[in-house]
Amino acid sequence: MSLDFMTLSESNTDSYSIGEGLKEESQVGAIETYTAAEFKRPVNKPAIEAAVRTILEAVGENVERDGLLDTPARVARMYEELFSGLRLDPSRHLETTFPEDYDEIVLVRDIPFTSMCEHHLLPFTGVAHVGYLPNGRVVGLSKLARVVEEVARRPQVQERMTQTVADMLEKRLGTKGAAVVIESEHSCMALRGVRKSGTLTVTSSLRGIFRTSPASRAEILSLINKR
Ligand SMILES: [Zn+2]
Repeated sequence: MSLDFMTLSESNTDSYSIGEGLKEESQVGAIETYTAAEFKRPVNKPAIEAAVRTILEAVGENVERDGLLDTPARVARMYEELFSGLRLDPSRHLETTFPEDYDEIVLVRDIPFTSMCEHHLLPFTGVAHVGYLPNGRVVGLSKLARVVEEVARRPQVQERMTQTVADMLEKRLGTKGAAVVIESEHSCMALRGVRKSGTLTVTSSLRGIFRTSPASRAEILSLINKR
């Protein structure tokens, strides 16, 4: 477990390990920095193909051999899919809401995702738990999974992914409180460097009442941790 927490304490983000409790305030500014025009920017597949050929040659491969002939085009199509979240506004899924008197926690647990570590361009895979305290309006439950799915399709670090989803809940839904906890395994830790597989990294972002009220925070975290 020490590895997870080392990762977290080295980063200056608004992310915490649940096991260690909640610590200092965020040192990071605006999360959602993509403009409307950037969402529509298409993927330049020929440029990706050329880059993949360059990498293959640089590691000493023969890009003309049969097995590699279609690889650059295949990788370009794959990146287009894996990074499609850069051209979308995932928070649009939170636009349609329903008036509801329900004023208790709504939590969707274990939303599976795969995202791409921006430091190594290797996947990290895990689950997200997304909860909020409604402020008179609720959103369709599947929409929370949609938001996670699209936010995941960007190069990023887990800490920022956690904050991005929490930001969207807070800003688009106008929640009284938002809580996002992400648990994932990073292939960059399993395959290279320290080579620790099976290590889970946990990040959380708590907003509104989940940050200000210890009772509310304890309630959401116990719901998230219930197994
Ligand atoms: Zn990495």
